[in-house]
Amino acid sequence: MLLCIMSERLSKCIICLREHHQESLEHIVPRSLGNIHYILRKGMVCRSCNNRFARYESAVLTSATWLKHRQAYGVAKADLKPHRPNPDLIDLRRFLIKICYESIYQSRPELLLKYNLDLLREELAIGKASKCEIITDKSIKDAKNIPGWIDSWRLGNNHIYLKYKALEGGFYFVFSYGPISNVLVLKF
Ligand SMILES: [Zn+2]
Repeated sequence: MLLCIMSERLSKCIICLREHHQESLEHIVPRSLGNIHYILRKGMVCRSCNNRFARYESAVLTSATWLKHRQAYGVAKADLKPHRPNPDLIDLRRFLIKICYESIYQSRPELLLKYNLDLLREELAIGKASKCEIITDKSIKDAKNIPGWIDSWRLGNNHIYLKYKALEGGFYFVFSYGPISNVLVLKF
């Protein structure tokens, strides 16, 4: 009887907010960048959201620039051919938004309400465009780590840094992978 009740336990997806039965693990930073530890608890993201994210991830991570660094760091096969020169902007943007939202949910949840980052979740869940863009300005000084020190250290071993900075007028998320650095800004 207990087993029966447990097997029917529903989880609520933190992206689309729907209840679901899946118990899959969600890697906040894709496993194909070398991350194996920084994950969400089982069932926190539903299969339908997870499948959607896999499309952005595949588009970004198999593009020429990203693939080159993944091959250099030994997390992609050396003979793999890139699918395209650069990731489409929409794929890159949602790839970054997903990592930003999930990492903050996991490690700095107090920021979600403070800066109304629900706009990011809505873009991921229903495709509603947020006032969020990728900027090329790399001069974001003194950004703070999002993961706690153990996870930051583990991700750093894989050349990955997730940082944020809140300034008047915008919330900045900095994602770095080796020499690749992308800044996402949500304007207030
Ligand atoms: Zn979902």
